[in-house]
Amino acid sequence: MSQDPVVIVGSGLAGYAVVRELRKLDNELPVIMLSTDHAGFYSKPMLSNALTTGKTPESIVTADANKMMEQQKVTIRPHTCVTAIDSSSKTLLLEDGEKLVYGQLVLALGADQVHLQLQGDGVSEILSVNDVDDYRRFRDAISGKKSVSIIGAGLIGCEFANDLAGVGHQVHVVDISTQPLGRLLPPAGGEFMRQKLEALGVNFHFNAITKSVERSDGSLDLVLENGERITSDVVLSAVGLRPRTKLAQESGIQVNRGVVVNRHLQTQLDDVYALGDCAEVEGKVLPFVMPITHAARALAATLTGNSTPVHYPAMPVMVKTPICPTVVSPPDAKASGEWQVEANEEGVKALFQDADGNLLGFALLGSATKEKIALIKQLPAVLP
Ligand SMILES: Cc1cc2nc3c(=O)[nH]c(=O)nc-3n(C[C@H](O)[C@H](O)[C@H](O)COP(=O)(O)OP(=O)(O)OC[C@H]3O[C@@H](n4cnc5c(N)ncnc54)[C@H](O)[C@@H]3O)c2cc1C
Repeated sequence: MSQDPVVIVGSGLAGYAVVRELRKLDNELPVIMLSTDHAGFYSKPMLSNALTTGKTPESIVTADANKMMEQQKVTIRPHTCVTAIDSSSKTLLLEDGEKLVYGQLVLALGADQVHLQLQGDGVSEILSVNDVDDYRRFRDAISGKKSVSIIGAGLIGCEFANDLAGVGHQVHVVDISTQPLGRLLPPAGGEFMRQKLEALGVNFHFNAITKSVERSDGSLDLVLENGERITSDVVLSAVGLRPRTKLAQESGIQVNRGVVVNRHLQTQLDDVYALGDCAEVEGKVLPFVMPITHAARALAATLTGNSTPVHYPAMPVMVKTPICPTVVSPPDAKASGEWQVEANEEGVKALFQDADGNLLGFALLGSATKEKIALIKQLPAVLP
């Protein structure tokens, strides 16, 4: 195996998970981590419940780049952007023109926020939160302000709605869909979530297409296609993420929805791997923490000479809406079956089963979440 370093591009949870797993297996292998950001370690999921948990942007970062360098015995270069990969010479081109040789390359590039094409003079003031620097800007913007409009009632939009309303902000959530968490919950689950968040003071606007964002007297007006105007101090966009694939694509690495990798997390090129939000592993783009944990373990073994495929067990997602505890394991998009729903005032238990009664997915809300452990055991593996 080459003596040249393992170079990891990206210092998010995926990059750092690989470093930690690598160091469990090999203390000597030279590792260089490059990142466009500050490269401090933090848990990104904490950003959407930091107000109610009393965290600040500063306390969320638990170790800066220097501390991580010391702890993990790796070289970390913050504020360093990789602009091209030359796989024939196994060289990275950095923004300042420097060339860096890699032995094995790990792309842990993350995902970009999707930005809606909106009109209006307030568009440049729309915020989104996909990292701790975004979050700092968001916290500054809401400081001393009363109202926030959120575009998008998906997982991140609902979590922020709960967090903001939980500390007394007036919250509006606008979504093109008919319910919250439309991609994850069957209608009965969406209705339960809606009622709980409304009881906390969240104002939902469904079937609502946002057309423009306009400045008005120090506030921002969200203008909907039906003409309705929603006035608030701050607008947060949470309409989804798109894997960062540009660097890979421009460097000749195969890209589909994400950077295409096989079960060994390997691209079509020797010694070039990808994981985390940027990766499409056997056709699956899973922008969550648990897939990263499993992928990092397998990849670390491969990088240290023990070629290891990744296996994904069932990986339910806990939605961080404390007003409405929720666990979801959505069925695969190609799965055929039906939802069986039991709902009452305390909770919703929705099971997605095939014609033979096999459990393929679930959504548990409120009191039904206590059944999660038993149900997880019945779910099929995501990648057996
Ligand atoms: C608000 C919020 C809440 C969430 N809550 C949950 C949750 O409760 N549970 C859950 O499972 N998941 C949750 N997620 C998703 C989870 O946080 C992500 O799946 C995970 O953090 C992605 O990590 P990553 O390392 O792949 O990407 P990122 O954290 O985005 O890291 C990408 C890194 O790549 C670097 N980079 C990119 N391009 C270059 C380049 N060209 N050169 C150098 N460096 C580069 C960036 O600087 C960054 O360091 C949440 C996400 C958000 C935004």
